Amino acid sequence: MTENEQIFWNRVLELAQDHLTQATFEFFVLDAQLIKVENNIAFIYIDRMKELFWEKNLQQVIITAGFEIFNSQINAQYVFESAEINNVTANNSTQQINSFAQQNPTSKEPLPTVQSNLNPKYQFDNFIQGDENKWAKAASIAVANSPGTTYNPLFIWGGPGLGKTHLLNAIGNTVLENNPNARVRYITTENFINEFVTHIRLESMEELKENFRNLDVLLIDDIQSLAKKTLEGTQEEFFNTFNALHANNKQIVLTSDRTPDHLNNLEERLVTRFKWGLTVDITPPDYETRIAILTNKILEQGYPYTFSQDTIEYLAGQFDSNVRDLEGALKDINLVATFKQANVITVDLAAEAIRARKQDAPVINIISIEEIQTQVGKFYGVTTKEIKSTKRNQDIVLARQVAMYLAREMTDNSLPKIGKEFGGRDHSTVLHAYNKIKNIIAQDDSLRIEIETIKNKIK
Ligand code: ADP
Ligand code: MG
Repeated sequence: MTENEQIFWNRVLELAQDHLTQATFEFFVLDAQLIKVENNIAFIYIDRMKELFWEKNLQQVIITAGFEIFNSQINAQYVFESAEINNVTANNSTQQINSFAQQNPTSKEPLPTVQSNLNPKYQFDNFIQGDENKWAKAASIAVANSPGTTYNPLFIWGGPGLGKTHLLNAIGNTVLENNPNARVRYITTENFINEFVTHIRLESMEELKENFRNLDVLLIDDIQSLAKKTLEGTQEEFFNTFNALHANNKQIVLTSDRTPDHLNNLEERLVTRFKWGLTVDITPPDYETRIAILTNKILEQGYPYTFSQDTIEYLAGQFDSNVRDLEGALKDINLVATFKQANVITVDLAAEAIRARKQDAPVINIISIEEIQTQVGKFYGVTTKEIKSTKRNQDIVLARQVAMYLAREMTDNSLPKIGKEFGGRDHSTVLHAYNKIKNIIAQDDSLRIEIETIKNKIK
């Protein structure tokens, strides 16, 4: 790289950093490389999936830096394969035009307006960023700022209470802020199914199709609820909706409590489509993030009392797997503090207020093996009977082993007793299952999070 190229590139990075949030910058820009600038074209090596983001958001940055350093208009040419780096020349590459930005629905009649169902409370501004959610947030911001053109679909997955619904709503709110005419709709999968059933009953499927296929942005929450066994036709309808929207570059964002690959209840063709875009996860917040979330929520609520710093630290230490619990704790405290007319929330007061919530935590032995089998079965879409059977299908074996693992971990029952509850198996089978799952979750985050999710349901 020549000295001028280096100066140009540094300036691009600097301007991009000013222009983007830190997480977005890190995600989209940090690993890009300038190959060279030749005949007023900057050859930039990026990941293919980031191209549209660059075109949408960084073209101006490149032009600005170009005028500053080279005194002429520099346009970008993106290169995706490292093999191409050595043989790009200004001749064999033409400037790429962003076709999406120009694509304009200069359409016929105005479409009916849409009820977005968004919760205005959920914004990017009040979504606290930590290591565990920064990619999910960055990708959500990218999608919100250029729907249909960056990642489609965006698939966000993670355990309960970690902010999936919050992000989904923040995307919709931002899209509408940028373009109040955008046709945005948030819907839970459960409500999607309900609507489907209603329209079948009223024989008005055409209307349902119209409602969904005219959207610009479809935000669909908790897609794991779309199970094969509940209603066959819903998957078909969802599949068609998905295809219609995707084919027209309409944005789809999905959330789930597990990865697409673990959606055992969904047809393979749906799972395949979910992986067309970008999949990002959210894991439980670390201690620092929990402190930041609490501090922010307290500010947001504008309570008529203050929290001592050690109270905040205490609370952050009490709930470690779920942001919803942190919010619940603040509600508990508010009740007690209002009653006592407290001015300052001390650790003692907080401890008293959250006692009941802490007692909701698992009490060993109250949890039955049966309950574990039921919840694990529900999660994996298999019956308790199948768990206890000798069937060897992959889904059933996994459910069986996870249930055995949890039976050992969450109850006081002996190995032979557990074996007996699983269709009269030997204690060594239980031990084998326990060790196997334990080893897997030491390395595999997705199974670990699935098990956390199931545990939360059992508690
Ligand atoms: P999920 O859909 O993953 O179960 P939610 O989006 O409903 O979780 O989040 C639960 C609660 O926690 C919501 O009130 C949400 O605003 C809050 N929350 C979760 N993550 C964050 C975060 N990073 N910053 C601020 N609030 C958060
Ligand atoms: Mg949710």
